[in-house]
Amino acid sequence: MKTFKSNAFAMTGLLTLAVAGQKCTTAENSKTEKPNLVIIFADDMGYGDIGAFGHPTINTPNLDRMAYEGQKWTQFYVAASVSTPSRAGLLTGRLPVRSGMCSDQRRVLFPDSEGGLPPEEITLARILKDNGYRTAISGKWHLGHKYPFLPTDHGFETYYGIPYSNDMDRVAELPEGLTWITMQIALAEEENYKAYNVPLMRDDQVIERPADQRTITKRYTEEAVDRIREFKDEPFFVYLAHSMPHIPLFRSEEFKDTSLAGFYGDVIEEIDWSVGRIMETLREEGIEENTLVIVTSDNGHWHIFETHGGFGGLLRGAKGGTFEGGMRVPTLLWWPGQIEPGVVMELGTTMDLFPTFCKLADIDLPDDRIYDGYDISPVMFGTGPSPRDIVYFYRGTQVFAIRKGSYKAHFRTRPEYGDPATTTHDPPLLYNLNIDPSEKYDIAEENPDIIAEIQEILEEHLATVVPVENQLEK
Ligand code: MG
Repeated sequence: MKTFKSNAFAMTGLLTLAVAGQKCTTAENSKTEKPNLVIIFADDMGYGDIGAFGHPTINTPNLDRMAYEGQKWTQFYVAASVSTPSRAGLLTGRLPVRSGMCSDQRRVLFPDSEGGLPPEEITLARILKDNGYRTAISGKWHLGHKYPFLPTDHGFETYYGIPYSNDMDRVAELPEGLTWITMQIALAEEENYKAYNVPLMRDDQVIERPADQRTITKRYTEEAVDRIREFKDEPFFVYLAHSMPHIPLFRSEEFKDTSLAGFYGDVIEEIDWSVGRIMETLREEGIEENTLVIVTSDNGHWHIFETHGGFGGLLRGAKGGTFEGGMRVPTLLWWPGQIEPGVVMELGTTMDLFPTFCKLADIDLPDDRIYDGYDISPVMFGTGPSPRDIVYFYRGTQVFAIRKGSYKAHFRTRPEYGDPATTTHDPPLLYNLNIDPSEKYDIAEENPDIIAEIQEILEEHLATVVPVENQLEK
C-alpha cells in the first residue's frame, strides 16, 4: 500500500532533507534530545484559505514553504466544527464528549459561562511539563476563563491572550440598517475594536480591555518568539493560537490593503508572516532541526460572513457543520531534516497530536482513560501508514457522521447556522471521499454492506461514551 505521495517541489529541491530524515528515527531522537513542539492554531481558517491548499490570490509564501519543506496533510480533521470542543480535542487527545466540553444547547463557552476543561483532564501542556518541558501559550484559549480552567491551571507556565472568541463581549448597539452579519463586517475597521470589550490576559490577570485587536496577531507572535528564545536550551512546547481570521477581522498597519484578496487576504497574510517569524526564530537559534512545527485551524471557514468568512476550497459545508468543510482543515508539518517532505493523503486528526507528541517525547500515554488519538509519527517519518481509519463527526454531543476508510456516512445533517431543523437520513447519506471529496454523489443505495459496517462502528463507539457533567451548560 502506498502510504505517501511525494510533492514534486520537495523531491526535486529538497532531496537532501528527505535523505537526512531517514537517518534519524524517533527512537534515536528521543534517546538523545527531546524535540521541541510548536502548534500554530488559526481560528476559522478554511481548507481553501492558503496558497498551498489552492487559494489563487492569498499570498502565503511561508506556509507554502512549510508545505514543500515539510508535509502537507490533505485529509486532516478536527474534533468538532466549532471552537471550544475542537480545542478540547486538540489539547486532551480525546473527543470532547468525554470531557463534557460540547453541548447541544450552547455550542461553545461564552463570557457568562462558569465551566471549563475539568482539572482532571490531562492537557498536552500538563503531560509535557510534568516530563521536563517548558510550556507557553499565546492567543485564544476558549477552554474556560475562570479558575481552575485557565491555561496556567492546565500546565502552561505562561499565558498571554484573549481567553475566548474575539467577537464576544460586544458592547456596540446594532446600527440601523445593519444585520448581525453585516455589522461584524462593518466593525472590523479601525477604532471599532472597542466595540468588543474582550480582555487581554497575562497569566491569570487582565492587562488590557478592550484588547486592541489591530495588533493582536503581531503581539501573539512576538510573545511566542520571546518564549522560544527563553526556552531554547530546554525542550519546549509553545502553542500559538491566533484569534484571526475569526470575525471581526483585524490586521496590523503593515498588512492593510496589501493582499489581492482584500481584507480577509490581509488577515491571512499576516498569519503567514507570523508563521515565517516562528520559522525564522527557530533558524536563528539553530534549533529548527529539533523542533516540530504544526500549523492547522480549529474548524472550517465561517461562510456566513461573506467576504470576511474565508474559503473551504472544493469541500462542501463550513464551520458549524459536519460536512467536510466544517472539520477538514489545512494542515502543515515542518521539521527540517527529520520528517519526510511530501503530500500526505493519510487520515489524521488534531486528537492524534497528543499520543504522537508523547511518543516523540518518550512519555507513556496515561492508561487510566480512553484516548481517541493515535500516534501518527510513522507517517511523519515515512515508516508506516496512519493507524487511523475512522473519523467521528460530532455536532454537540451527537455523532452526525462517521468516516471509515474512504467512505463517509451521514446519519444526520443540519445547516451550520440559522435553521434549527435536523434531518435524519435512513439510510444514511454515503459518499466516497477519495473519489468525491465535495460530497456530491450519494452512493448509499448501492452499498448497504458499507452502511451496515459503519452502523456497527457507531454502536461500538457509543458504548464507550460515558456521560459526564456538561461544562458548556454551567
Ligand atoms: Mg474557530
